[in-house]
This record gives sequence, structure tokens and C-alpha cells, in this order.
Amino acid sequence: MRIGYGWDSHEFKSGIPLKIGGVILPHNKGLGGHSDGDVLLHAITDALLGAIAAPDIGSLFSPSEPKWKGADSMIFLQEALKRVGNVGYSLVNLDCTLILARPKIGPHAAAIRARIAELLKVSTDVIGIKAKTPEGMGTENAAIAHVVVLLEKNKPKQSRSKSDKPTTVAAKRS
Ligand SMILES: [Zn+2]
Repeated sequence: MRIGYGWDSHEFKSGIPLKIGGVILPHNKGLGGHSDGDVLLHAITDALLGAIAAPDIGSLFSPSEPKWKGADSMIFLQEALKRVGNVGYSLVNLDCTLILARPKIGPHAAAIRARIAELLKVSTDVIGIKAKTPEGMGTENAAIAHVVVLLEKNKPKQSRSKSDKPTTVAAKRS
């Protein structure tokens, strides 16, 4: 088993769409950043990369590279997921907490959950989405995301060969 943790924050800016968890939310401001500013997908990407001790999102997709300007953060998430698969792990579950003053996440939580499950190729019942307002933190103009993931090692494919004698193994254990 591997645990991974990711954190990200972006500042609200006028005149851009608000994208959280791969879903466009109705709001008068969006999240600034070199890419599409999807704070939740960035934190998930870092949690996945962290779980397998891979370089973080900023190292893999440098904000100084023009090719990532306005990039769909789905690309980052898919690269992290591919790396997780390459080292033989898969996602058990993911839990996240969003911290933002506005807009309210509650009405959109189901859509965000479904989109993340779709992007990670898992069922919605292993995706936890929680949202809080930044009481006393003074971060009203930012969106913050905390994410934890749990990965498990993929089981080796069962050999169908006749030479396998699973009963012997069982007998040895007793
Ligand atoms: Zn970010």
C-alpha cells in the first residue's frame, strides 16, 4: 500500500471560467494560473505522484514552459495516473477537502465526484468530496485543495499452467 498527499491553491481572477475537478462551475471569477487553474486536479495529480515518489507536478509540467499555458489539467492527471500504472499500482480511494468562500460546492459536489471518478477510471464510491469555507483564514480570494490517495499494488496475473500446485502451498502454511 502507498499513501499520497497533495495540496494546491489558486487565486480568483475576473474574466476566466471557474474549473474545479474538471467541471466548469457558474461563478463570476475563475482561478488564475499558468494552466486552466484547476486547483483540485492539481492536488490530485500531486497526491498520485507523491504516493509513488515521482517528481511533483511543477517539475513535470513547469509553469515556465509555454506549452502548458492554458493547458487542460486533465493532461497532468492522466500522466500521473499512467505513472502509477507503470509501477504496478492502482487507486484504492481518494479523499479531498476544498476550502473556498464562494461559490458553494455542495450543489456541484456530485458532478465533480462523477468527473473525477471518470478521469481516474474508478467508481464514485471511492471518491470523497468535502468543502469548507475559510473561517478566520483570510483566504477569501483563493481556492485551496487538500487530497489524500491510497494506492495498492496490482496482483500478479494468475498463471493457468498445470504445473501450479496451489494446494501444496496451502499445505505448507498449515
Ligand atoms: Zn495548481
